[in-house]
Amino acid sequence: TAKTYGRSTYKIYEEEICQSQEKALLIEYHLRKAIDQHEFELYFQPKIDLITKEMNGMEALLRWNNEEIGSIPPDTFIPIAEETGLILKIDRWVLEKACEQNKKWNDTQFSKPMKVSVNISPLHFRTPNFQHVVQQVLEQTGLDPNLLEIEITENSFINQTEECIECLNELRKMGITVAIDDFGKGYSSLNYLRKFPIHALKIDRTFIHEVSRNMDDIAIVKAITLLAHELNLKVVAEGIETKEVINVLEEIGCDEIQGFYVSKPLPKNEFENLIKQKTNQSFLI
Ligand code: C2E
Ligand code: MG
Ligand code: MG
Ligand code: MG
Repeated sequence: TAKTYGRSTYKIYEEEICQSQEKALLIEYHLRKAIDQHEFELYFQPKIDLITKEMNGMEALLRWNNEEIGSIPPDTFIPIAEETGLILKIDRWVLEKACEQNKKWNDTQFSKPMKVSVNISPLHFRTPNFQHVVQQVLEQTGLDPNLLEIEITENSFINQTEECIECLNELRKMGITVAIDDFGKGYSSLNYLRKFPIHALKIDRTFIHEVSRNMDDIAIVKAITLLAHELNLKVVAEGIETKEVINVLEEIGCDEIQGFYVSKPLPKNEFENLIKQKTNQSFLI
């Protein structure tokens, strides 16, 4: 009957919540020890300039492997890190490692200056001393501030307009660029684009992956590109998986791309091999 059916689905629902809460607790338990136990690793994904077809930087992406619970993707553990406040330590670790690595690469490997992009959680970006954390890490690692980009999502700006403008101004004064990640995916207004000193919009990959076939997506990507260029911002498209998508983006006038078509995010050594292999060769064949 309907009554028993209703009760049993409720029960299943309850069990699912318990299971996911249990899983979150288990992840949290292991996450607390992850830095000390050297379980994190940074992967790097190249960013390609669509005009020159050359690499002009890379995004650092965090990977976590724990002996007991295995490889957990960032989309699973970052929200837990945010809820528990662990994200502050994790973001700092990523920032340090990414700056340290990029300093080494710019000193020894790259034939021209390359920026590293680091994702910063909205929670972290909104802490009052965020710009000082960045400054400290730059001093400590010796990386030229012009070789660092911060990626934040639109959620970073919710309810904190004045503080955010101040922080962004400080970062800009230091020479750091800021990109809005996953642009178009959130619910925020366009208002902040006028007021905030940012440098680039990264169009969310949900608008990109079918852009060669879907007229609505083409319209959206065109409109974002036009808007960005009118505001003197660069446009980056993420999630490029096919040559057809690249062709459309070139036509639209997108500035930079990133995606599996060029390369998946790679561990340090494999990334170095890719760079060597691509010397004097286009990334887009
Ligand atoms: P994001 O910053 O938007 O990063 C892009 C995500 O898209 C990455 O997933 C990347 O591996 C994936 N990707 C790149 N190219 C393609 C493609 O062609 N096709 C598809 N389907 N996916 C592609 P990943 O590494 O799993 O990271 C997911 C999210 O987790 C990131 O989204 C970012 O929001 C967060 N994240 C990753 N590393 C960090 C970190 O160090 N700190 C913080 N706070 N967040 C991080
Ligand atoms: Mg990102
Ligand atoms: Mg993104
Ligand atoms: Mg994202």
